[in-house]
Amino acid sequence: MATKRHTIALFGGTFDPVHFGHLRMALELRQALGFDEMRLLPSHQPRHRQSPGVSSRQRSEMLALALQGCDELLLDERELNRGGDTYTVDTLEELRKELGQEVSISFCMGSDSLLTLHRWHRWQRLLELAHLVVVTRPGWHLPKSGDAGSNPKLMDLLQSHQGTATDLYEQALGSLVLREQTMLPISATEIRQLLNSGQSPRFLLPATVLQYIEDHQLYTKAVATGDQ
Ligand code: ATP
Repeated sequence: MATKRHTIALFGGTFDPVHFGHLRMALELRQALGFDEMRLLPSHQPRHRQSPGVSSRQRSEMLALALQGCDELLLDERELNRGGDTYTVDTLEELRKELGQEVSISFCMGSDSLLTLHRWHRWQRLLELAHLVVVTRPGWHLPKSGDAGSNPKLMDLLQSHQGTATDLYEQALGSLVLREQTMLPISATEIRQLLNSGQSPRFLLPATVLQYIEDHQLYTKAVATGDQ
């Protein structure tokens, strides 16, 4: 019988700002798939791609506030510390070097991100470094290589790597695992729009994060020209 490996999952995003949709998703994934660690990984955004008036460091500080008192979810700031453009493949290469070949690493994402994976830097390498765990709506299926709108090379690669949840602790890398899960209907875009129009996003994100946003006057037109 295969031994259970140490399992580390990563949940990447801009978290601009972090909200309850992200936090529930990460926690439910950890609980459902039994990961030993679940790390939230804020991506670094070069200044020209940042929300006006909100730095990468501030996005990460909001995430740290959201995770206060929550031992189940960890913050991994490596992409911010590295700076420059953020490529998932570089992060996974770095983690592999750090953790060795035996630890199971899973990179988690939504199914919308999966369909555009062929635009990611060195995307063919991703499954050589980690598993991909894709959160889907109930009933969602991976498109076939001939289906309209899908990238044939990507679909062939994904079809050939499709696996099950047990792969995540029996193998260190290489499986695509689809996981059906309901998502809370919250988006960071909506939160930014509410703030920008002077309305409250209360109850969509942790109160500590909202307090930080108010204290630093983030996502409002008033500071849009005063980027730090
Ligand atoms: P934006 O509205 O700015 O595009 P977002 O809320 O979609 O932001 P990101 O930080 O870009 O958030 O996403 C990080 C990850 O969180 C992605 O994998 C995305 O699929 C997932 N995600 C986003 N919103 C939700 C949600 N409501 N429930 C669960 N997962 C979510």
